[in-house]
Amino acid sequence: MTENKPGKVSMEKLVSLCQRRGFIFPSSDIYGGLSACWDYGPVGVELKRNIKEAWWRANVQERDDMVGLDTSILMNPKVWEASGHLTQFSDPLVECKSCHQRWRADDLKENKCPACGGELTDPQQFNLMFKTFMGPVEEAANVVYLRPETAQGIFVNFQNALNTSRKRLPFGVAQIGKAFRNEITTGNFIFRSREFEQMEIEFFVKPGTDDKWFDYWVEERLNWYTKLGIQKENIRLREHAKDELAHYSRKCFDIEYNFPMGWAELEGVANRGDFDLRQHMEYSGKGITCLDEESKQHIVPYVIEPSAGVDRSVLAVLCDAYDEEIVNDELRVLFHFHTDLAPIKVAILPLSRKENLSAVAKDVYADLRPCFVTQYDDTQAIGRRYRRQDELGTPYCVTVDFQSLEDKMATIRERDTMNQIRVPIAALRDTLQAKLAGEDLFVLPEGGQIWKEEKRGV
Ligand code: ATP
Repeated sequence: MTENKPGKVSMEKLVSLCQRRGFIFPSSDIYGGLSACWDYGPVGVELKRNIKEAWWRANVQERDDMVGLDTSILMNPKVWEASGHLTQFSDPLVECKSCHQRWRADDLKENKCPACGGELTDPQQFNLMFKTFMGPVEEAANVVYLRPETAQGIFVNFQNALNTSRKRLPFGVAQIGKAFRNEITTGNFIFRSREFEQMEIEFFVKPGTDDKWFDYWVEERLNWYTKLGIQKENIRLREHAKDELAHYSRKCFDIEYNFPMGWAELEGVANRGDFDLRQHMEYSGKGITCLDEESKQHIVPYVIEPSAGVDRSVLAVLCDAYDEEIVNDELRVLFHFHTDLAPIKVAILPLSRKENLSAVAKDVYADLRPCFVTQYDDTQAIGRRYRRQDELGTPYCVTVDFQSLEDKMATIRERDTMNQIRVPIAALRDTLQAKLAGEDLFVLPEGGQIWKEEKRGV
């Protein structure tokens, strides 16, 4: 992107910038944090919401063959018996015989403790589900689990969703929500946490058409990331080997991202066959089928599941958008967020706090605020305010200066190029709207003038 490239993104730089600018904080920070739990700050929450909204729009609202759900985190424990999670949702755990640290066996390169080199115990299966009690009596009969995936809420609602939406095969059900896993090893910032959010689709198809739909969803999901600005060279597919497949899975591809710590799973696309619906039929005693239009028979559909992590998408977007360059001998750090994802779209920066200038700037703020997430900042020197907005990834800054009082024009400064464009105040809203929608044009009211400065500003 920039000729003058001082360095690449690292996890250390990202963690520190995210804390400093209000993207992400350790959970319960004032008490020293809580392992593998994170809080999204004032800017991070906007970024995360934008990612979820982009996903919901593309996968639910813009499609005829998809409906959404929002199911509860706590579910009847029979769900987890039926789904196989109670017996199979576990990772192999080993303990060091000397220092007693515990590790996930399949993460270890050698058969000795990574901390002290000590001898390890034989692996034991460790179930990743968090347990708690429902109601005031803490006894075995009242045990419930925090869901480890959102998918089961969809499967147990299959008939409800089908009957009320009157969809026909092929059709999908989508959900965004929290999931919890008592991971043995965590780390890499928000990549692997114990509380996280998923964006999951269960797409139900006629058996026999599942391979075709599997390929369709792999392609569709890859395109979603690249359309939102993730660079093609940073994303790839990896097919699971047979011995890697989860207990329900017939075929699985990981969409991997080139994170600072290396390539790792961003999303999994799996062919779950009819495993889940059949299990729930057996354990609930209810029929879960739908009509196949061709054969006029009731069938149990197969399901293709694209399952993405919200937090991993946030991390991929942060890594991908991060950039550094030297401007006037100083480091400029910025996020090149896609305009749909940028937490703040426009910042209003009056050149001074003088009353006559503030009045104009506040009018501009009031005019733009209903249309875009807009921030008003009159605190420091203008150069420092631009740098701050660069670090927040704000695509456009609007500067109101003393000349604005005379000519009723303001300056739009673009984040990526640092180009400055003088635009009539009356045309600001439409111009920014067009630019944020990806159109490079200036909307001028009748008789409006435009002055474009070619030279890069700061
Ligand atoms: P991994 O192999 O990394 O443990 P997984 O294969 O168990 O992941 P899935 O069960 O396929 O993950 O979950 C679907 C998606 O949910 C993942 O692609 C990831 O984006 C997200 N996810 C899973 N576990 C976590 C976690 N502990 N923290 C953050 N996101 C997670």
